[in-house]
Amino acid sequence: MDCPIHKTNMPFTDTRFGKRFACSQCDMVSWNGNSPASQKTREARIGAHRAFDAIWKAGCMGRTAAYSALATYMGKSKKRTHIAQFSNDECQRVIEFTKELLNG
Ligand SMILES: [Zn+2]
Repeated sequence: MDCPIHKTNMPFTDTRFGKRFACSQCDMVSWNGNSPASQKTREARIGAHRAFDAIWKAGCMGRTAAYSALATYMGKSKKRTHIAQFSNDECQRVIEFTKELLNG
């Protein structure tokens, strides 16, 4: 696992959550081989997940249907619609999508 900024190998430590790869020169972290993210992106992903989960928890639609709708909105295939792999910008779009769906 390489840091996307420094292109250097990120050493990992074994934690009770799995393998944590971290760059020694910046705050890029990857869990269990998922795409590395900075602190800002990790926070954005948490926010996007929380917003998105509200859709199916509110009973607006099922979880699978919500993912399909999100994939369409993002212009991605369902296979590639994983919030854990989204960039900061993509996470902002997830939040916009959720707002449109819940308020629109
Ligand atoms: Zn780095």
